[in-house]
Amino acid sequence: MTLHKKAIDILKSYSLCDYCLGRQFSNLSTGTTNKNRGSTIKDFLTLFYSTDITDDTVLILQALSRADNKLAKNTLNRNNFEIENSEECYICQNTLTENSEEIIQEILPEIKDYEFQTFLIGTSLPKEFFERERNLKEEFNVVQTEYLKQEFNRLIGGRIGEFLSKETDFQSPEIVIEISPLTYSIVLKLKSLYIYGRYRKYIRTLPQTRWPCRKCKGRGCEECNHTGKKHQESVEELAEYEALKLTHGYKGVLHGAGREDIDALMLGTGRPFVLEIVEPKVRTIDLCELEKNTNQYSKGKIDVSEYRWSSKNELRDLKSSAERTVKKYKTLITFKEPISEKKIKEIEKFFKNRPIDQRTPQRVSHRRADLIRKKTAFSVQCSRINETHIEAIITCDGGCYVKELISGDNNRTKPSIAEVIGIEAKCKELDVIEIQDGFNEA
Ligand SMILES: [Zn+2]
Ligand SMILES: [Zn+2]
Repeated sequence: MTLHKKAIDILKSYSLCDYCLGRQFSNLSTGTTNKNRGSTIKDFLTLFYSTDITDDTVLILQALSRADNKLAKNTLNRNNFEIENSEECYICQNTLTENSEEIIQEILPEIKDYEFQTFLIGTSLPKEFFERERNLKEEFNVVQTEYLKQEFNRLIGGRIGEFLSKETDFQSPEIVIEISPLTYSIVLKLKSLYIYGRYRKYIRTLPQTRWPCRKCKGRGCEECNHTGKKHQESVEELAEYEALKLTHGYKGVLHGAGREDIDALMLGTGRPFVLEIVEPKVRTIDLCELEKNTNQYSKGKIDVSEYRWSSKNELRDLKSSAERTVKKYKTLITFKEPISEKKIKEIEKFFKNRPIDQRTPQRVSHRRADLIRKKTAFSVQCSRINETHIEAIITCDGGCYVKELISGDNNRTKPSIAEVIGIEAKCKELDVIEIQDGFNEA
């Protein structure tokens, strides 16, 4: 079927705007817009059929008139035929012709408070729009290379980009602007910021991340003094505070390479983490300044170092690497009865590259799968404090539960220090003094 025959067939059945008609022939010519192509086809048809108007051709001119072609309206008028009123576009309901400029004017003030270099436009239209376009495609055997949604995104995106001198990014835009062209409503989705750093923790009352009240699940109740929290502060909240002030973000999420217990200190060169800033309005901030401010704000509780920009990919690596790192702990062990010099030597001798089978400890079994983890204790170095207390430096795999390596956890961890010497033992204090990982120089 020739182009003009097909265009006539379509327009006789359905009124289409220039954009939507042009798009039905988007496989034909390059270097022009759908809008231009559509209006050119309409003008051409009008000229073609206006030389000798018959009963047949007047129907074509009237169809073109319904599709808002000015030339057709003029021709009908000059030849004393009835002009047919313009109809709404069958596919897009004139969203492309009428609303797009207004939508752009709507969007601009909404995004002016956000800092971004790259963006992407998304469109949410009722599915009937796409069904109508699909039906037309099937009915007239149209070979399309673009659809309404893409055209709309391209149109709005192009104008916004021009206006703001920003670039469209399909892979990983800093902001996604989702538009509902019918209601003019806009939803903004902001890409998180990721900051790598290491933290040290100096107090024994601080969980790594937010700890909501178990009873009210964060809503606030009497038990938590209406704070919604079981612990009032966390490393996460200390680290996010200044970051949120600088970025005007919604919240911070601390992703640690493993975690220590609330009552364990984190010393040495600190634990690697990635701080994710959710929904940041400002994206270019001075990380040196952030590090300094954070350390001032958290003085005596935590400090952070080595701040630099990170990514979602690195965050993934960091999480999966936590189990593969080697960790060194300083522990204070208390024994139920006095411990001899001989027994101390036994401990040191036994725990040299010793494989450990560790079943999920009772104290965490409510939140972690019950399974047996294979870990290695590389060394235990003891120094006596008094008859029943020793300080032990324990080097072992990341993810090894050290308190249980000491106590045995009712035979759930085998072997354990208590088991080897046959005296009940308990970990009184635990500090992480070194995390050996590959992230220092990354
Ligand atoms: Zn249309
Ligand atoms: Zn509560």
